[in-house]
Amino acid sequence: MSQTPFPAASRGWRRAVSLATSLALMVSPAAAQSGRAQLAPEVRQALRQALLKSYAELFEEAPRLEFSASQIAAMRKILEDAQKNCSANFRRRADDLGRQLRDEQNRLRADTARIDDAERKKRHCSIQNLRALESQARVLAEHAIPVAYENRKAKLELIEKWPAELKQIQADIASGAHLKRKWGDVKDIGFRELVPDQEKDIKTGQDAVREMKMAGLMPPEVDNPVVKKYVTSLAQRIGRHSDLRVPLNVSVLNSKEVNAFALPGGFLFIQRGLLEAAENEAQLAGVIAHEIAHVTGRHGHRLMKRATISSIIYQAAQVAALILTGGAATIGTYYALQYGFYGLGLVLSLDLLGVSREMELEADQLGVQYAWNAGFDPNGFIHFFDKMATREGYVNGLSWFRTHPPFYERMVQCRKEILFLPPKEGLAVNSAEFEQMKAELKKVTAQAAEEEKDRPSLLAPVQGCPAPEKIEYKPGEPIEKLCPEPGESSSGAR
Ligand SMILES: [Zn+2]
Repeated sequence: MSQTPFPAASRGWRRAVSLATSLALMVSPAAAQSGRAQLAPEVRQALRQALLKSYAELFEEAPRLEFSASQIAAMRKILEDAQKNCSANFRRRADDLGRQLRDEQNRLRADTARIDDAERKKRHCSIQNLRALESQARVLAEHAIPVAYENRKAKLELIEKWPAELKQIQADIASGAHLKRKWGDVKDIGFRELVPDQEKDIKTGQDAVREMKMAGLMPPEVDNPVVKKYVTSLAQRIGRHSDLRVPLNVSVLNSKEVNAFALPGGFLFIQRGLLEAAENEAQLAGVIAHEIAHVTGRHGHRLMKRATISSIIYQAAQVAALILTGGAATIGTYYALQYGFYGLGLVLSLDLLGVSREMELEADQLGVQYAWNAGFDPNGFIHFFDKMATREGYVNGLSWFRTHPPFYERMVQCRKEILFLPPKEGLAVNSAEFEQMKAELKKVTAQAAEEEKDRPSLLAPVQGCPAPEKIEYKPGEPIEKLCPEPGESSSGAR
């Protein structure tokens, strides 16, 4: 997508950010005092540093960190206040942009009889730009900022609880109690029965695929033999080492969404964005194994008892549109689809269908087992979470975290299962084939970007206008850059 600068609005946005910053500073004294009263600056600094670490690092380091319960509680309060302030700032900003938008529309209505075409065009472009900025501010306030802080809070919980958890795990291994855990019979993967009648889901899955295609919700497949062959054979290898009792049907979708999903009966969909985000084979294997576990656990079947497929599709499209436009009523599902986010990753979203916490935890546990059984380093799944949470920034990972919320207990469940697995030599982290796929993928991505230019999209619906301004983030930029914590220096704000 071409990025033409939009100077006036750009200044407006920068003004808004500095306004948001000064608001944050204005509300800071009370919040900062309550935090600081209980937390010495050096402790606060040490905790903040710790929270910037990855989940994988924290599993190693948490047992050596010595923070008291009251220090942890004070930090939690600081994070909660910061989240509230940060979301409120961007909500105010969105309201303000909404007012500017309505003013601009009123002005247009008042002047419409006497302005010339060039002026009209200018006004249309301005309205379009305000709409885009408003919805971006709203997405930040309602989705991206909460996700960023959920990650922080999950890590704080890890620092607090993991040391005791680890001792218990070691005791369980020593006594052999871990062998009696649910699905602890990992040497019998493929020969045990998790949930009977997996094959009865095939028809449900086929129907869902057909309906999605008819509704225009299925992105086109990636048209590259190397990428397709690699992903298919990786998934089949994991499938062969899982509890799968149905054929695995693998599709690679040409969508930039960072996600994958499985439909009942063994229909697995990997989105291009996921392949772009995965850094090595073990990470990709971890995500695929998790999705296969949703099939073997028959989670979709249990869900679909509660909702018809078409209602799921409809709701998924609605949610996709909502997230991508921040609920802007004028920009609907159509633009969400054109934008390249098809809402499919949201099909199994928690709040949509009530995918239970238990199902996610089960898919995490079984997924770790399948990746391991297929010969991959099962830590890949945790590393992928880390990548999404820490390095990818908090916006690119939005879709991923909608369907895979960063619960503390999920991270712990994965880590625990990894520790319980029998030791195994030579687990793979990467392969030459993965790197070859990545090289081919670059061509697919470049071509998709080229094709997108000509398509109407959320970001440039009016022909001839500069592309509406995008709020850009540097990958890996911590949330504090966007919303300085109360009492924090605001030097990071643009
Ligand atoms: Zn899942």
